[in-house]
Amino acid sequence: MKKKIINIFGGGCAGFSFIRRSQEVKEATFKFYLGSDNNEKDHYWGFWRSKYSNDFDEICLKWNKWKIINYDNEKTFFSCQHPYCIINKNKWINFCKRKIKNSNVKIIKKKVEDKNSKFYVDEKPIEGDYFFDSRNVAFGKNILLQHFLGLTIETNDNKFDPSTVILMDFRCNQSRGLHFMYVIPFSKNKALIESTLFSKNVENRKFYLSAINSYLKNFFNIEFFKVLKEEKGIIPMHHINFFQENSVSIGARGGATKPSSGYTFIYIQKQISNIIYQLNYNLKINNFIHTKFSLFMDKIFIKALEKNPKIFPDLFYKMNSRLSGDEMALFMNGNQSFKTWLKIIYSLPKLLFLYAIWHCIKRN
Ligand SMILES: Cc1cc2nc3c(=O)[nH]c(=O)nc-3n(C[C@H](O)[C@H](O)[C@H](O)COP(=O)(O)OP(=O)(O)OC[C@H]3O[C@@H](n4cnc5c(N)ncnc54)[C@H](O)[C@@H]3O)c2cc1C
Repeated sequence: MKKKIINIFGGGCAGFSFIRRSQEVKEATFKFYLGSDNNEKDHYWGFWRSKYSNDFDEICLKWNKWKIINYDNEKTFFSCQHPYCIINKNKWINFCKRKIKNSNVKIIKKKVEDKNSKFYVDEKPIEGDYFFDSRNVAFGKNILLQHFLGLTIETNDNKFDPSTVILMDFRCNQSRGLHFMYVIPFSKNKALIESTLFSKNVENRKFYLSAINSYLKNFFNIEFFKVLKEEKGIIPMHHINFFQENSVSIGARGGATKPSSGYTFIYIQKQISNIIYQLNYNLKINNFIHTKFSLFMDKIFIKALEKNPKIFPDLFYKMNSRLSGDEMALFMNGNQSFKTWLKIIYSLPKLLFLYAIWHCIKRN
């Protein structure tokens, strides 16, 4: 039987997530076009443990407890089965590289270009049976963005509680959009502190740094610290699924990002699993990962957030406070039950959401 030739474009999260599982695809050889030489910035990916993270569980850092805080309330969530995990990007890429068997994968450190529905490298056409494309796409103007800057810091004294992640702490400057702090406590004196905004305008570096400094001073009594690492990012808060006739988009380009939260990593693992199944059973390949209902709910949520960001620190707390740790973890990973949806819908302010629904329907 002739082996199928599978081309993968883009050496980021989706590309490596696919290639690390290349041996699971029956009768196939792979050509993996990295793009750059993979000297991109290191950072962390966060997600809740699921069956899609089982095989790399040992290289994740995990917390069974996480918190949401606003000026009036605080709730701690707990889950044994679905802890909050983070994975370091470089560690992950190295893990994936170790899984690759050279016999069926050819790695090509070159950029792919497309012209008239054909792919080229060094102006030569790329041949093959399948083309999976995870190259970055530019996103539109005037859209809501999740943008953030984080510092990994070390303090002289013990200041952090290493048992609990602070997923969202809204006790910070809310004048530029919905703003929260994210704290990953690696130990009692080492943590990642991230200032994150949901708004249309990316702020200058000074803004995030000043927010982090005030937060550390006000709530941890920290004035002096050593910066070990800095990371930053921008994630569009709208659904992108780039369609091309000659290829299948994967990763952020292929609709894996959950628009309302920016979480992508675990959805990429799920998307790749589905595609491997489709390849092995000769099914029509599709990259769909979020249900139509969940995308519609995200649209409504984002419209409401654009209209009235000020109420969201309270709303995020309310929406989640009715959920158990497991329910929240499953919801964030896209595996929620109907009961969880009902609990969330019940907690939403009805007038604002009716306005948002009306807007979304009118636009369609
Ligand atoms: C700093 C940061 C933190 C994040 N944190 C989280 C998180 O905690 N949890 C979460 O779920 N998500 C997170 N995300 C979002 C998401 O997981 C990442 O954006 C993820 O990297 C998306 O994977 P991808 O493969 O689609 O894109 P990328 O990882 O960006 O990969 C695209 C690749 O395509 C390559 N490329 C570009 N042009 C070409 C070309 N012409 N030819 C060949 N290759 C090309 C690039 O070099 C790149 O390697 C974060 C994003 C950022 C930026």
